[in-house]
Amino acid sequence: MNALTSAAAGSYQRLMEGRGDLVALRRELHAMPELGFEERRTGARIVQALRACGVDEIHEGIGRTGLVAVIHGQPTAQPGTPRLMGLRADMDALPLREQNDFAWKSATPGLMHACGHDGHCAMLVGTARYLAQTRRFSGTAVLVFQPGEEGYGGAREMIADGLFDRFPVEAIYAMHNWPHLPPGKIGLNRGAMMAAADRVQINIQGRGGHGAHPHLSVDPVLIAGHIITAVQSLVSRNVAPVEQAVVSLCAMQAGDLGAFSVIPELAQLTGTVRSFKPEVQQLLEERLTRLVESVALGFGASAKVDYQRLYPATVNSAAEADFAVRVAQWLVGPENVDDELPPSMGSEDFSFMLQARPGAYLRLGQGGPCGLHQPRYDFNDEILPVGAALFAALVEQGLPLDAH
Ligand SMILES: [Zn+2]
Ligand SMILES: [Zn+2]
Repeated sequence: MNALTSAAAGSYQRLMEGRGDLVALRRELHAMPELGFEERRTGARIVQALRACGVDEIHEGIGRTGLVAVIHGQPTAQPGTPRLMGLRADMDALPLREQNDFAWKSATPGLMHACGHDGHCAMLVGTARYLAQTRRFSGTAVLVFQPGEEGYGGAREMIADGLFDRFPVEAIYAMHNWPHLPPGKIGLNRGAMMAAADRVQINIQGRGGHGAHPHLSVDPVLIAGHIITAVQSLVSRNVAPVEQAVVSLCAMQAGDLGAFSVIPELAQLTGTVRSFKPEVQQLLEERLTRLVESVALGFGASAKVDYQRLYPATVNSAAEADFAVRVAQWLVGPENVDDELPPSMGSEDFSFMLQARPGAYLRLGQGGPCGLHQPRYDFNDEILPVGAALFAALVEQGLPLDAH
């Protein structure tokens, strides 16, 4: 793994030396995974660690199980309101049975930290400890431990609960480990990082009957087949070719596999639509609904589309992304920063925070053979100090001490 540049290594020696504690905390969190809005033990453990770090304030119960730690830097001689910067880590695990067998594997069957949020929390605790001990910044660092990232909209919940009214940060940054980048490399871009994610559920109401007498029924299985094919025209024939979008119908249910001659009443499809621009999202929602309803109608059935917008696109603001690129280059060297990382069609609820405040979402390479959300995924503890240093450097360089 690449080390920090010599300039940065001097500043963050302390973080490198404290690595063992972060690894221990990360593994402790790994062993006790909790789902979104159930992160009570996780939250309590993080609060305990933050108290030991000497942070100035801890605020619990924001967005149900969310929490915020506040660290004040040096007073500034400059007039005006104090400056605040936000840093965010997510806390929840996934409903997955872990297939690793190291000593710190999940102690809760069926739940697993398979997205590395245990690592993100440990990194941000490392940043808290470093900032509270050194305080080489002005203004205030606001450390956000967010619940329910995995489809629960925990970021939205924290914002609705007054996160940015109580802590009016000027900018906010988040980081996610990324197995597709080598350990210690940092990737981001100055615009869209991740797509908007929508959920589609389709109910096709036919009329059941005997497979030998299909003319007396309305076959929803046949209609589902036509709908599956037809929706693939949405992106290819409606969205401009230079735009990015995808429609995937991923599951289907109809009838009973044991009933080989029974035409069922109902067929159900479910899937996802991903896009970046609101106008493309709007177009796909309208066209998909009309297309599905019309295809069903053409066959003498009816279809209902339940279209839910889950997460908006995660879009970095240009100035803050640019700042984060410079900080990352200083930290690990320009050769280890990809500042034109292509966007991913995945999604992330940090998008809600980036809609409310300027900021940037970064990826921190962790390597490894196993991708996120896999039962053998393993967070790479080697990257803990780099991640903690990156968060700390954003604060120190974004809220610099007054020049003397
Ligand atoms: Zn995830
Ligand atoms: Zn994640």
